[in-house]
Amino acid sequence: MMQRILVTGGAGFIGSALIRHLLFKTDACVLNVDKLTYAGHLSSLASIASYGRTGQQHRYQFIQADIADAQAMQTVIQQFKPDTIMNLAAESHVDRSIDAPANFIQTNINGTFVLLQAALNYWDSLSAELQQQFRFHHISTDEVYGSLGDHGLFDEATAYDPRSPYSASKAASDHLVKAWFYTYQLPVVLSNCANNFGPYQHPEKLIPKTIVNALAQRPIPVYGDGQQIRDWLYIDDHIRALLRVVSDGVPGETYNIGAHNECSNLALVESLCDILQALGPADSVRSYRSLIHFVDDRKGHDRRYAIDASKIEQQLGWRAEQQFESGLRKTVQWYLDNRHWWKPIMNGGINA
Ligand code: NAD
Repeated sequence: MMQRILVTGGAGFIGSALIRHLLFKTDACVLNVDKLTYAGHLSSLASIASYGRTGQQHRYQFIQADIADAQAMQTVIQQFKPDTIMNLAAESHVDRSIDAPANFIQTNINGTFVLLQAALNYWDSLSAELQQQFRFHHISTDEVYGSLGDHGLFDEATAYDPRSPYSASKAASDHLVKAWFYTYQLPVVLSNCANNFGPYQHPEKLIPKTIVNALAQRPIPVYGDGQQIRDWLYIDDHIRALLRVVSDGVPGETYNIGAHNECSNLALVESLCDILQALGPADSVRSYRSLIHFVDDRKGHDRRYAIDASKIEQQLGWRAEQQFESGLRKTVQWYLDNRHWWKPIMNGGINA
């Protein structure tokens, strides 16, 4: 039977990669529900446009809606009749959460609550067999675990200790999702992932921002001393992990996803500068590294994240495949080749 997957946030970085994968590499039918905030870009889905047309396979639909709109969520779920809901819709940028947290509370917490209620109402109406097959997959972040010292890794038993409005809102949503499992038996799975990178990431995020600033010969900002450590995962590896979790994950369980790619922000920015030096335009500045510019540290900046991914590796047989360095090169090359995607976004072309 063809899977029917409702993806929220499908016009964002990870959601669009998931939808491209589902359409190109599986036979699933996909409904993309996205509010199209500043972070949602239908241009990230241009390559799958033909899947939505009558006469083609008609496996893709898009509905512009807010996951916090209870009536809209009730209607789309009842009409589409998903066997799987993958919730990626979120406000996702830590800096924005510090400057203006309200949207993070509204979408990440209230929106997840509304979606859970709509999913539960629908699930209650299903036969026992369909109830068993149904999954609500909530996509979350390792930032819910807080900040590590020099040693140790986050595993699934690590206590939640979020520090930013973003991570606190994601932590709250994770707790709601677990509560809907324990209280109402809604079959949920959760995944908490390391920092993603790859094509189609919004230029406000560290890796694309470094690349586009360097290409424009603008200063490349680095927070504080640049020694904050992040654990990086290539987007395609994340997508494969999500599909493994949603198909084989045990209801009620959490799976941490990471690739053991710890790197300080400064070392990462320097690597990107060096890759650009090798791949970038011949008229480039003498040294991209000379554009690196230290700025005041982010408020409450977490020092280190690092994921222990042994549960998903051992229980679900997933393992990251992309080498960090070659993934960075592929990403830089993509931004060099796809200025038509990111330039309109840089110029304020909302939903371009
Ligand atoms: P993104 O900001 O690129 O995309 C978010 C998408 O959600 C956008 O298309 C936006 O329009 C949509 N959206 C926002 N508010 C909405 C609402 N109220 N209703 C419907 N749609 C709405 O984010 P991303 O990087 O693709 O992240 C996707 C998910 O993965 C998020 O839940 C995020 O917390 C999580 N995550 C991201 C990373 C990462 O490194 N990017 C790492 C771990 C977890």
